[in-house]
Amino acid sequence: TDDRVKPVAYNKELNDLGQVQNQTMDKVQGLIYAQQDFVSDVSHELRTPVAIVKGHLELLNRWGKDDPEVLEDSIRSSLAEISRMETLVNEMLVLTRAENLNVTSQPEITEVLPIIERVYHDLQMVHPDFSWTFDNDLDQPVEVAVRADHLEQLLIILIDNASKYSTDRKEIHLALAKAGTWVEIGVQDFGQGIAAEDLDRVFDRFYRVDKARAHRTGGNGLGLSIVKKMVAAYGGQVQVESALGSGSIFRLRFPICRPEKTE
Ligand code: ADP
Repeated sequence: TDDRVKPVAYNKELNDLGQVQNQTMDKVQGLIYAQQDFVSDVSHELRTPVAIVKGHLELLNRWGKDDPEVLEDSIRSSLAEISRMETLVNEMLVLTRAENLNVTSQPEITEVLPIIERVYHDLQMVHPDFSWTFDNDLDQPVEVAVRADHLEQLLIILIDNASKYSTDRKEIHLALAKAGTWVEIGVQDFGQGIAAEDLDRVFDRFYRVDKARAHRTGGNGLGLSIVKKMVAAYGGQVQVESALGSGSIFRLRFPICRPEKTE
């Protein structure tokens, strides 16, 4: 019987090893596909502005440079497209860094309230046509293991969206509260809202509900994907609740840091 048992055990190990190898190969394949998708998304996004600038330069080269109006219009449009490309490239770098964030080594501890207050104060000046409110429910300072500039960046993306996608009712409402062992930051607007079928996809890279409008508002569909990657890297969560025509609320959540217990 020993002779029969042994080969079976031996085969099982080989089989396990094979499975591990298969899983590794699947993961590698998945990463390769993700990389290919990224390159293809990026190429697609850059194709339009490149084509526009090329079109203008060709026009100027043929005859346009002799007409001051055409010349001026082509230069203005080309500069606008180049700015778009610049933003796109910069935000892609941010996204790539967010994907590779290594926050495990020495996490920076940040008190949440001063960061929100600063962003709130700064963005109020950027959007003076909005009416702003901020509800702070915290009764004591709360800290999170998130780099201050990253927390700031997350808030700026969400508040910037709230302003971009607001329509008649120009109000932005921020809220800060504890939710159990988490701290929650809410950014609410009363703008166009997001349809239920788009809600899951707004966090996808380059996804925009309304491409034409997003182009006019200078969007590139990267903001929320940066938020999602960055929040995940810090062990946080981001959620959205929205109703078409009445507005949206985005909620960021991070685990609250507790001071180390000394025994
Ligand atoms: P964008 O650069 O287009 O704003 P984001 O990744 O930040 O890219 O957002 C993706 C899409 O989600 C936007 O194009 C818009 O359609 C939708 N969206 C994001 N925030 C809001 C909001 N506060 N209200 C309504 N729609 C929003």
